Amino acid sequence: MPGEFELIRKWFADPAASTADASLQLGIGDDGAVFAPTPGCSQIVVTDTLVAGRHFPDDAGPAAIGHRALAVNLSDMAAMGARPKYAFLNLTLPESDEAWLGEFSRGFFELAREHHVALAGGDTTRGPLNIAVTLLGEVPEGSALTRSGACVGDLVAVTGRPGRAATALVLWREGKAIPEELNKAWLWPTPRVEAGIALRGLATACIDVSDGLVADFAHIAAASDVGARLDADALPRDGIDTDALFRGDDYELCFTFAPADADRIEAALTGAGQEYTVFGEVVAAGEAVSVQLDGEQRAAAELGGWDHFQDGS
Ligand code: ADP
Ligand code: MG
Repeated sequence: MPGEFELIRKWFADPAASTADASLQLGIGDDGAVFAPTPGCSQIVVTDTLVAGRHFPDDAGPAAIGHRALAVNLSDMAAMGARPKYAFLNLTLPESDEAWLGEFSRGFFELAREHHVALAGGDTTRGPLNIAVTLLGEVPEGSALTRSGACVGDLVAVTGRPGRAATALVLWREGKAIPEELNKAWLWPTPRVEAGIALRGLATACIDVSDGLVADFAHIAAASDVGARLDADALPRDGIDTDALFRGDDYELCFTFAPADADRIEAALTGAGQEYTVFGEVVAAGEAVSVQLDGEQRAAAELGGWDHFQDGS
């Protein structure tokens, strides 16, 4: 079994790090990474931890776990409208399993290459499987998307098809066959990085949907001090279970924008190759967030999402 340093060299010495833009002055191998921020840009930092059995099934393939560990962080970066640049990988492993590491590293690096992200450092320790990734990214100063800018009269939209991942989870629990595109949405989520960048200067607020569409939109409503009338009947529902519509793991972007910018939003997202659906409007804070579902008006609070501490599951 290789030692820690051999393991890092073999599986995580990132060949892309040396070919990344010259702003990464020192990557893996020293006590810290050194990088030069792009003048005129703000630096964005996001971090997310995956725990076996909680964020992915215990027996999920290691390549899918590697993909997911990076994807959930890229999704946070996307929600900020930021361009991801460097990743840091903190791995806690029960054992040094070569086959597992090879597959994990493949899943991680395939997605990293796709987004020109260089692995610039990390930490490797022994213990119950736990994977924490930190990403550094950039946006032109003043153009980061946040949760707090939604205004009364704005429209509410979401990328892609929320509910696919949770539908796959339901089918998996029931031991049923999972259609390929649902399985991909569940185990190989596609972070909407280009869409987030395209929304700079256009979206008034943005969040990535990790806990559930309504639960996450509620964070925009709270941060922006607004209410909303959402219409779930407007969402694409092909093969998506009603109960799954508002559950977690979509990694889509939910955003708001001024109606006057509708054409620019259309052009920006079409340019980014991103489908999206407008499904609501922002109203004054006095009115709680409500959702029309199957022709019935429901309070958002009835349509739960995922809360790690509340659910207890
Ligand atoms: P230190 O003992 O100084 O904390 P480490 O032995 O933990 O250093 O790490 C040595 C180098 O390898 C550092 O540059 C660190 O960033 C990098 N590294 C350690 N683990 C990983 C990992 N899982 N992925 C990427 N880089 C790693
Ligand atoms: Mg050190």
